[in-house]
Amino acid sequence: MRGTREVREVLEAVDAVDWGGLPGPAGLNGPDDLYSPARVATGLRALATATGLVRAADAGALLAGGGLVHDHSGTVFPAAVVAAPFLLAVARHGHPEAGATALGLLDDALAFAARDRSTRVATPYAEAVPICCALADHLRGGADLLATRGREGGQLLADAAEHWRFDVQEAVAEGAGVAAFGALAGRFPYGVRAAELHRAGRVAVLERVVLHYPPEPDGGPDACLRLDGVRPDELAPPALLFPARCGPGPTDG
Ligand SMILES: [Zn+2]
Repeated sequence: MRGTREVREVLEAVDAVDWGGLPGPAGLNGPDDLYSPARVATGLRALATATGLVRAADAGALLAGGGLVHDHSGTVFPAAVVAAPFLLAVARHGHPEAGATALGLLDDALAFAARDRSTRVATPYAEAVPICCALADHLRGGADLLATRGREGGQLLADAAEHWRFDVQEAVAEGAGVAAFGALAGRFPYGVRAAELHRAGRVAVLERVVLHYPPEPDGGPDACLRLDGVRPDELAPPALLFPARCGPGPTDG
């Protein structure tokens, strides 16, 4: 990385993670065949300090070959969620070739994650978030950076927006359902959708959710969802909603 302070911070943060303690599938040929914790730490360190195309490509090969994703099998590991802020930092402060490699890894990770409907990760906001939605949340955190990265950055943000997240701040009875007021991140699609409700460590699927009013253009994230067949106390904050299509439930979210 060009900024030595940023390099040091990323290297320290990478070293502070117990990569071997993260879950990840082993392949047929032994524990390092699919998810390889050693490749994550080595690859991220190499990417952060890469100063040219060859080194960035070598680091990218480690991370794409069992570190964060396994590109041959199209598998993404929970390590990719932990590493996402580091990859964004490399894209922000690192050598341009390293930054391009980092964004390519994030792109692969989100694409693989969007097809993975079983892997969930613990986050500060919910205990078992679909891996795609957890990755998308990190990408939104780097929206200012991605918006400056041309078509590739814009596409990554658009892909992330499909993994919307709604933080319920207030739920009030309305007819046979509930009007939930809160903060919407990403883009809630048109029409009636199924959503996963995460509350008090439990996950439930709500079949009928519509966007009652969207956030103001260029305003804050405040929005309102209308949910049928549920009581206000079932949505009392802290409660979060994610698209049901990201989990093993209904496919119409
Ligand atoms: Zn998702």
